[in-house]
Amino acid sequence: MAQVLLVEDDAAIRSALTRALREQGHSVASVGAGMAALAAVVEQKPDVVLLDLGLPDIDGADVLSMLRAISDVPVIVATARDDESEMVRLLDLGADDYVIKPFTATQVTARIRAVLRRMGRTDEDPVVTVGGLCIDTRSYEVTVDGRPVELARKEFELLLALARRAGEVVTKRDLLAEVWQLAWGGSDRTVDVHLSWLRRKLGESAREPRYLHSVRGVGVRLVAPEAP
Ligand code: CA
Repeated sequence: MAQVLLVEDDAAIRSALTRALREQGHSVASVGAGMAALAAVVEQKPDVVLLDLGLPDIDGADVLSMLRAISDVPVIVATARDDESEMVRLLDLGADDYVIKPFTATQVTARIRAVLRRMGRTDEDPVVTVGGLCIDTRSYEVTVDGRPVELARKEFELLLALARRAGEVVTKRDLLAEVWQLAWGGSDRTVDVHLSWLRRKLGESAREPRYLHSVRGVGVRLVAPEAP
């Protein structure tokens, strides 16, 4: 799918992530330091860079600024610091998204997908089908059991984000990042409100879910309803 450059000095994280990304069909190159990362971006022209901020030679934020001076490649930063001023600074420096350590491979691959989609660099199937639900991303048409459903833009994007990861529990944090492009901030309430509109339009409710199942304290999972 994409050529990923992984910049990470921790060998264990590097090999685990490399394996996970390759399982998702990405091709992965990795380096363990900032200078090597800059050279690799120039030489290999990756589709996306996953940049650890704690590197042995150059501060990751400086790597990010230098990288931005030479390339417009999408960059997802990995940081151990979960504070707002740091995120704002990184986004100002040109990061496209971020993940907070410790993160799961699923979180990283979802962010990579979201970034590539925003860049229009994706070869995902334009029609997503889950059970009787069919979403056409070219015409923005949604049908349930052949019946058309009119959705507002964000409802459509929310449904699509969940359908692309059918069967997985997707966190509200990830949905805010993917659907609302809020790499930082945003409220779970935004997701909840859109989810309830979406449910009504799909003809279901939180109490009697068919496709959209809330997993308390974690997020939302879209699954095909069981046959009656
Ligand atoms: Ca590190």
